[in-house]
Amino acid sequence: MAKGKVYLVGAGPGDPKLITVRGLEALRKSDCIVYDRLAGPQLLAEARPDAERIYVGKLPDRHTMKQEDINRLLVDLALQGKTVTRLKGGDPTVFGRVGEEAELLKQNGVAFEIVPGITSAISVPAYAGIPVTHRDLASSFSIITGHESPDKLDRSIHWDKVTNATGTLVFLMGVAKVGYISEQLVKHGRSPETPIALVRWGTRAEQRTIVGTLANIEDKVKEAGFKPPAVIIVGDVVRQRETLAWVEDKPLFGMRILVTRARSQASELTNRIDELGGEPYEFPVIETRAVSSETAVQAVRDALLRSETYDWVVLTSVNGVDYFFRWLDECSRDIRDFHRAKFAAVGPKTAEALRIRGVRAAVLPDKFHAEGLLDSLAEELLPGQKALLPHGDLARDVLVRELAGRGVETVGIDVYETTLAVNNDPFLPEMLRDGDIHAITFTSSSTVTNLLEALRRLGAEDPAAWLKGIDIVCIGPITARTAEENGLQVTVTAEHSTIEGLIDALAANRRSKERG
Ligand code: SAH
Repeated sequence: MAKGKVYLVGAGPGDPKLITVRGLEALRKSDCIVYDRLAGPQLLAEARPDAERIYVGKLPDRHTMKQEDINRLLVDLALQGKTVTRLKGGDPTVFGRVGEEAELLKQNGVAFEIVPGITSAISVPAYAGIPVTHRDLASSFSIITGHESPDKLDRSIHWDKVTNATGTLVFLMGVAKVGYISEQLVKHGRSPETPIALVRWGTRAEQRTIVGTLANIEDKVKEAGFKPPAVIIVGDVVRQRETLAWVEDKPLFGMRILVTRARSQASELTNRIDELGGEPYEFPVIETRAVSSETAVQAVRDALLRSETYDWVVLTSVNGVDYFFRWLDECSRDIRDFHRAKFAAVGPKTAEALRIRGVRAAVLPDKFHAEGLLDSLAEELLPGQKALLPHGDLARDVLVRELAGRGVETVGIDVYETTLAVNNDPFLPEMLRDGDIHAITFTSSSTVTNLLEALRRLGAEDPAAWLKGIDIVCIGPITARTAEENGLQVTVTAEHSTIEGLIDALAANRRSKERG
C-alpha cells in the first residue's frame, strides 16, 4: 500500500479565518484530522464530511492522550495510506511539540509537511490592541513558556537575562504562575510598575483582557477568577491598548451566533456577523432539493411544456429561480420557450438571480410586505392573463389564490422542497450546555422546527430547554410566532424582515445587554 502523508498544520489562535491558505487546503483534502482543544470546531467543519476526526485533547473522563501515543497514531494512520492533518493551535513549532511528531514520522519514512500558523503569542496581543514590538517601546520580544513547576521554570528560564532584555516578554501557559512570574521579574530588576496584560481566549467570542502592573496583577487575576488559556504580555507596549483596543468596539463583539439557514444560503448572514465582530457558528438545519414525488414532477413537466401559453412568470425567491432553471434543463427546455412571457421577481435578490441568467424582470417589493406585493402585482398582471408561479413546497399559496381571485389564471408549481438537514455536529450539545452559544438566528419557521428536531436527534429530550438563556433572534413575526409556539422565548424580532434587519436586531439586542 502506498504510504500516506501527514500535514502538521498550525490552526491559528481560534478565529477560524486565521488559518493559512495552505493549512486550509490540507484540512480540506485529508482523510483524517487529528486535533485538540485549541483548534476550534468551525475549522473542523471544513474537513470532508467523510473524513475521520480524532480528538486527542482532554476529556472530562480522560487525560490528554500521551504525546508518544499521538506520535504513534500519526505514523499508523499514514502507514494505512491516509492523508492526515494534525491540527494544532497557533503555530505548530511554538510549544507545539511538532519536533517529536515529525521525528517519528521521519524515522518511519512517512512524508510530512509543516504548515506554519499564526501563533497566539503575537496574534492574541494584537487582538487586544497590543503590538509586541513598537518603534519607541520595544525592539525585540521573547516568547516564554510559563506552564511548568516553579523549579523547572527556574531551571529553564534565566530570569536575570529575561528580565533585563530590552523587549516585550510574552508568556504562554502562564496564568496559574502569573504571581511567581511577576515576582521573579521584579526580583531581577524590573520595576513593579511595569505594565502587564493577560488576554484570555484571544480572537474568539470569549476574548477578555485584564491589565495591571507586576505589583498588582496576581490579585487582579484572582479577583476576576481569570482562567487559562491566556497570553501574558509584559512591557510598555501594553499601554498601547489604551489607544489601540479595537475588537471590543465592534457591535457584535463577544457573541457567538448560531446560524441555522441552509449552508448554501448562509454566507450573507455569516459574513455580516463576522464583519461586525461576532462569531458565526453554522449549524444548517434546512436543506433544499428538487421535488421528487411523481405528482410534483409531473406538474412541473406539464407546466414547462406549456411555456408559450404564459403571459407572466412570477418568481418569489432565489431558490425558486435556481430550481426553475434546473427544471428547464432537466426537461430539455430553454428559457426562450417562454418567449411570450414577462418575468416578475419578488425582491431585489430574486431579480438579481434572474438578471445573471440574462433575464430582466419587473422587480416587486419584498414578500414580507404581502399587501404591497399584491397591489403591485395587480398593476402588472391583468385579469384574463395567465401566470406561472414556481415556488418551494412551503410557500404559502396566498399569492396563487389572491391572483386567481383577481381574475388571473394562475398555475403554482412546487419546484423544490425543504427538508431537515442531517447535521451530526458533535460539539453543539456541549456548547449549548456550557453557554458557549450566545444567540440563535431564525430566518424562517422551518429553521425553528428543524433546529428543535435536529437537537432531538442529538439527544435532547426537551430541546427547548437546551436553548434556555440563549438570545433568540427572529427575522419576522411569523417566525417569531412559530418559536413561541414551540416553547422558545423570543428575545427580539427584526423590524425589517431581511438579513440586514436581522443583523440590526442582533446589534440592538447586544447594546441593550451592555446597558442592562
Ligand atoms: N502553538 C501554540 C501554543 C501552544 S501552548 C501557539 O503558537 O499559539 C498553549 C498556550 O497557548 C495556552 O496555554 C495559551 O497561553 C496560548 N494560547 C493559545 N491560543 C490562545 C488563545 N486563543 N487565547 C489565549 N491564549 C492562547
